[in-house]
Amino acid sequence: MSFIESLTLTLALLYTCSLLYWSGKRWGAVVSAASLLGAALVTLYWPLFIALLLAAGVLALAHRHQSDLVKGEVRANTLREGIQHLLALSILLVGIQYAANAVMLKLGITPYLMRPDVGDAFLPIAGAIELKAILTLGIWDQTHPAAAVMLAVVILTGLLCKRAFCGWACPLGLAGEYLYKLRKRFIKRELLPPAWLDWPLRMLKYLLLAGLLYIVLGMPSASIPHYLEGNYHKIADLKMALFFVTPGLITLACFAMILLLAAWRRQGFCRYICPYGALLGLTSFLSPFKIRRSTQHCLIETKGMNCDKCTRACPANIKVHQQGTVRSDECQACMRCVSACPKQEALHFSTRNGIKLSARGLTIMLLLLLFMIPLIAYVGGFWVSQTPTEIRMYLIQHLGSIGH
Ligand code: SF4
Ligand code: SF4
Repeated sequence: MSFIESLTLTLALLYTCSLLYWSGKRWGAVVSAASLLGAALVTLYWPLFIALLLAAGVLALAHRHQSDLVKGEVRANTLREGIQHLLALSILLVGIQYAANAVMLKLGITPYLMRPDVGDAFLPIAGAIELKAILTLGIWDQTHPAAAVMLAVVILTGLLCKRAFCGWACPLGLAGEYLYKLRKRFIKRELLPPAWLDWPLRMLKYLLLAGLLYIVLGMPSASIPHYLEGNYHKIADLKMALFFVTPGLITLACFAMILLLAAWRRQGFCRYICPYGALLGLTSFLSPFKIRRSTQHCLIETKGMNCDKCTRACPANIKVHQQGTVRSDECQACMRCVSACPKQEALHFSTRNGIKLSARGLTIMLLLLLFMIPLIAYVGGFWVSQTPTEIRMYLIQHLGSIGH
């Protein structure tokens, strides 16, 4: 685990401990902190200890100046944006470290900056094949184990808290938000497609997902071990990186379309193209937590008012004020509707039997899923790639000639 991964992980988990503590879940805070310390002691991995000290220092400092933020006693939007920006910064640093490692490999220099394994999260097909290998053959891939871990984590977030991963963690979603805001500076008008076009466009992402699932499910289980041991799998991440840094004309046209889409309408990329969004949209139907409107408290039913503040706040254009339960696969659990609602108790992110999850509760759940599971995987020896650097250095010289 690279230092930037260790720092992000310890910072996120210590922050989770703080949120648990200040929300009165003292035992949860103690157990989480003990797990973090236990992991450092079991692995005796010095970057984890340094990251722990640094993260504790950062939180102590933040507590002095921004104690509400450290306690999680801020508005949902502030909490969500803080988490999004910190994760995006971490991914950016991870990307820089990954690129430096790859360049050194290419130049034949033994890298002094290690490859951050979390980058394997960008290999969803490899992750899905690895999960299939675990489920059907009991084989745990040691080449890109983090790909399987991160895919499982993302699916779990969908099963438990709708598309909160998209709304709270995805760096592409955040980048799309900035692009959309930039476009709005120059063209103020909303450019929403008509409903008859919106629906088929939304189905595009499901088509893409179906194509990817076809590749994974169509692969005979018997051929998986051969694939996992092959050179292509060993450098799947480098192939992916090469694809992005040396795009052809068609790839460039696709990138341009994605950027235009994100600028054209809010969450355009998540809504129409992203296969991860499709996967989470499907799993989110099973999530016990959903946005629910209480007709006993909503101003429409109680005061006969024409309130639609929740709907106007929704970036996914869901008609929240007309629904009892928001089941839409486009809901990213962003809680903007809850924040916009003037009537306390009228809108919640809750289960059918009334268990409510506040923005702070959702942050705790997300951070635990996103960071505690990778920590457990790391301690259990299923995170760091076992492919020797020399092999990657050799294979990167022949990147163009290595196929499936
Ligand atoms: S319904 Fe609420 S939580 Fe869901 S996307 Fe819209 S604003 Fe966000
Ligand atoms: S903003 Fe609140 S009060 Fe207004 S319609 Fe939505 S749920 Fe009801």
